[in-house]
Amino acid sequence: MSATAAAAFAPSNFTTSLRKQTSSSSICFARLTNNSHSSSSATPPPSLIRNHPVFAAPTPVITPSWREDMGSESYDEAIAALKKLLSEKEELAPVAAAKIDQITAQLQTPDTKPAFDPVERIKTGFAKFKTEKYVTNPALYEELSKGQSPKFMVFACSDSRVCPSHVLDFQPGEAFVVRNVANIVPPFDKVKYAGVGSAVEYAVLHLKVEQIVVIGHSKCGGIKGLMTFPDEGPTSTDFIEDWVKVGLPAKTKVKAEYGSLTLDDQCVNCEKEAVNVSLANLLTYPFVRNGLVNKTLALKGAHYDFVNGTFELWGLDFSLSPPTSA
Ligand SMILES: [Zn+2]
Repeated sequence: MSATAAAAFAPSNFTTSLRKQTSSSSICFARLTNNSHSSSSATPPPSLIRNHPVFAAPTPVITPSWREDMGSESYDEAIAALKKLLSEKEELAPVAAAKIDQITAQLQTPDTKPAFDPVERIKTGFAKFKTEKYVTNPALYEELSKGQSPKFMVFACSDSRVCPSHVLDFQPGEAFVVRNVANIVPPFDKVKYAGVGSAVEYAVLHLKVEQIVVIGHSKCGGIKGLMTFPDEGPTSTDFIEDWVKVGLPAKTKVKAEYGSLTLDDQCVNCEKEAVNVSLANLLTYPFVRNGLVNKTLALKGAHYDFVNGTFELWGLDFSLSPPTSA
């Protein structure tokens, strides 16, 4: 480790030195190919969704609404609930102590891995980044200190296995990234989806990205949830079901066209179809529509399969020619 990098770990400046850390997954996908089309995968390429399905799968009509229980818990109530939990925990102290003794004994057996130290992991991760990337590329970081001008806006899943900077080798400054459960772009809605909306607005109007890429992926838990949650009735989750149900048009289409397939195969189709629903939802943002019409912006769908090591990329024909007047 260089003296500079070592110095960065002095407790006084560790946090400030973290500001330029890049995304880095500990998982290496050695089998990723450069093939832009699905090659050996048994899954057919997304021809089923390439040309026409965006408008066949209508954009969900979501009326802004406000649930009574949204954010109604005050900080005082939250703290009271936390204190209650802690007091209950105290009552369980003897049980917990016995359990801790048992775990400690297990940890002391020779074959047991050392306990995971999250702080140490973060420190070593940043040290590696700083010595191998930051220090060795001063020109890049000098340029980035002046601002950012990414060509790409990327939507990817929060899944720990699919970091787009890792998979696509995006360098700092190349991609403005939004990650959420199931890589969903919801429709324009100032109340319900301000987080995504502000990111799209900033990327398109201020950073002037040229490409928006929505990347689905294999084994997506969010999409599996979408395919298996009941479509109606009370939800069993606070957020997840309402969120993934933004992709309901994709589920409906897959159930209709691939209902005879296994759930896993239906999910693969839905992973791709949900990407198209998101691309269609992007059209509900006025500044995205303007970018497409002015040809300063393009939308692309993608699917990263980390089981087979493939990456598919497709564009969509939105038929943007002006309507003919009767
Ligand atoms: Zn996912």
